[in-house]
Amino acid sequence: MFLDTPINKISGIGLKFQQKLKKMGVKTAEDLVFHFPHRYEDFSNIQPISKVKINQTNCFAGKILEIKNTKTWKKKMILTEALIEDKTGAIKAIWFNQYYLTKFLKPGDFVCLAGKVLLGSMGLYLSSPVYEKISGFEFQSAELAHTGRLVPVYPETEGLSSKWLRWILWEFLKKFKTQIQDSLPEDVIKKNNFLPIQKAIWQIHFPDSVLQAEKARERFSFEQLFLIEIAVLKERLRMNQEKAPAIPLNVEIIKKFVGSLKFILTDAQRKCAWQIVKDLEKPTPCSRLLQGDVGSGKTLVAVIAALNVVKAGWQVAFMAPTEILTKQHFREVAKLLSSFKIRIALLTGKEDKIISQKLHCITKDGVIPDVLEISRAKLLEKAKKGEIDILIGTHSLIQDKVKFAKLGLCVIDEQHRFGVEQRSKLIQKSRGLKEKVLLPHFISVTATPIPRSLALTIYGNLDLSVLDEMPEGRKKIITKVVTPEQRNETYNFIRKRIEAGEQAFVICPRIETGNKEGKEEKVNLHTKIFGVEAIPAVKEISSWSEVKAVEEEYKKLSQEIFPELKVAMLHGRMKPAEKEKIMRDFKNKKIDILVSTSVVEVGIDIPSATVMIIEGAERFGLAQLYQFRGRIGRADLQSHCFLFSDSRSVKTRARLKALLEAKNGFELAQKDLEIRGPGSFSGVKQWGIPDLAMENLKNLVLVEQTRVAAKEILQKDPELKNFPLLRQKLEKFKEKIHLE
Ligand code: ADP
Ligand code: MG
Repeated sequence: MFLDTPINKISGIGLKFQQKLKKMGVKTAEDLVFHFPHRYEDFSNIQPISKVKINQTNCFAGKILEIKNTKTWKKKMILTEALIEDKTGAIKAIWFNQYYLTKFLKPGDFVCLAGKVLLGSMGLYLSSPVYEKISGFEFQSAELAHTGRLVPVYPETEGLSSKWLRWILWEFLKKFKTQIQDSLPEDVIKKNNFLPIQKAIWQIHFPDSVLQAEKARERFSFEQLFLIEIAVLKERLRMNQEKAPAIPLNVEIIKKFVGSLKFILTDAQRKCAWQIVKDLEKPTPCSRLLQGDVGSGKTLVAVIAALNVVKAGWQVAFMAPTEILTKQHFREVAKLLSSFKIRIALLTGKEDKIISQKLHCITKDGVIPDVLEISRAKLLEKAKKGEIDILIGTHSLIQDKVKFAKLGLCVIDEQHRFGVEQRSKLIQKSRGLKEKVLLPHFISVTATPIPRSLALTIYGNLDLSVLDEMPEGRKKIITKVVTPEQRNETYNFIRKRIEAGEQAFVICPRIETGNKEGKEEKVNLHTKIFGVEAIPAVKEISSWSEVKAVEEEYKKLSQEIFPELKVAMLHGRMKPAEKEKIMRDFKNKKIDILVSTSVVEVGIDIPSATVMIIEGAERFGLAQLYQFRGRIGRADLQSHCFLFSDSRSVKTRARLKALLEAKNGFELAQKDLEIRGPGSFSGVKQWGIPDLAMENLKNLVLVEQTRVAAKEILQKDPELKNFPLLRQKLEKFKEKIHLE
């Protein structure tokens, strides 16, 4: 048996366990060896039986005097009772419903037991203790895996017990003692004073002391983050070797554009636009994340970049996560560029009628009265011939059928981390057309604040531009936490706002019903990946429970609370055309109150929407609440956000209060990271990042250290030629994590 032996070739692991391990992503012996415990139980203190402590965990070594199964009267439960003796006394042990124990443990056997000692009606007893056989009273402590030591406890996934994992790992580690080789470079180990791998792997599973366990964890935390850093930095280096069109900076046209606006740019917009156009000048692809609160004017910055690219004779692809947003972008971009003779088109996913803008056809209020509708085929042909300058669409833009003549820039809205896969798709696409075609520049635009430690790790392949300033004249949104008693009062307030011509959003959370919704749960996961705060290929699907919540809220509001107002609902299970109509009606003020799920669009721009109610606010992450709130407060009207929460927990209130006090999204994202961990960030859980790295994603100091170390090694040896083990490990690691 070797480290890379597949699990199903290892004798002693039955089919049932093989399947469970497979579900956990464990394919080989090595995978299992690197499956770490998340905590330890301290059974290290083996006491004489006479020193028993009631209501505490005790560990004894002794001989079984008798052991038998009995049936309880009332509950029909099988009890296994044993009497254990050492040189100082005897104690009873009781297990529940583990009748098979009597086959395994016999009178005369020596055992080590660990568990809680309780006082019952029949005296003291050890309750369901962990047990393992030992050789006799003079046993060696090195014999012990489950008792008499710090005992590893593994995350109990897929019904694999810690006991079973300990048993198998104990065997594995003994077998592989000398096979496991160190993939960390020697000087990294020396410099950081890390345990060498063979020791570390023992100490993380079966530590001699708490200190040793910590030292081992320290090493593996470093190692995992180090691998992430190397992966993202390598990707970046690879990108630097690709070629992109060097787009000359056209100051004149940008000045003209900025001069055509009704407002002046914020300093932050100037700074970010500058960073981007300077990137575009280089002959290597730009990879930049443009980050800023909702309403900070990101689209405008992207449009400046796009204009510059188009005027240099290149095409721009503008990708947004949902159809509604693409249409909004289409209108906005068309409006902003209406006097620049640019051919802008909208490509939607499912419909075959495509809208394409004729030149100069936008009226003052931004309506496009005279759009040219052409067939999908025609539009694709135009894109391929280079007769469309800016093509706006959903993920469908990187479908096989879409081809560009000269794609110079991709702007991707709300998708955080485009990467290897999408780019390689585009490369293939361009290479399919002509040999040696250039790769487009990439800008990813997001309103989701990303804490620095995440920016350096999972987004570490991107440069960062931050719009940390809002356009002048925006009023601060008044945010309140509303208790159930204050509901009516709040509804009355909303009624007044609507009578004054304003509009309201009501956001409903997903209800975790835990019923027979097996299938729907999958969908939930899906919406989490592709949902509100991110990401690509967007399926706007709400879970059924979410839909139900929206339907119920809609019924309540339209029939009981606001029967005199126009209430509508919106959820991801509606047809695109239906959704589109409702958003349009809302925008045109044919609807007063829109009840919607959390998966529906963050970036929607409705200036007269000034009120937002968030039901079950405690169920959302802070950064997510912050983003919802960004849908209001877009004009100069005073806006209000009401966080409805039935929770009386002090912690919940404190968390919601943070939203009231936060100055910006970064602060909240950092808080989310601290309180809820990186898993609370959309998509992060699906990235398959190992647990230790996950825990440490918030550890900025360690993140920075590993980044420096990764940079150093890649500078000396970009292909890791002198570090074959590290390179191997990296390849395996990259198979597991999907940072897309
Ligand atoms: P974001 O995409 O960051 O949410 P947008 O680019 O959609 O923000 O801008 C929000 C609104 O603010 C738009 O109507 C836009 O025209 C306007 N806007 C952008 N920049 C400025 C500015 N510097 N001053 C005033 N209004 C601006
Ligand atoms: Mg925007």
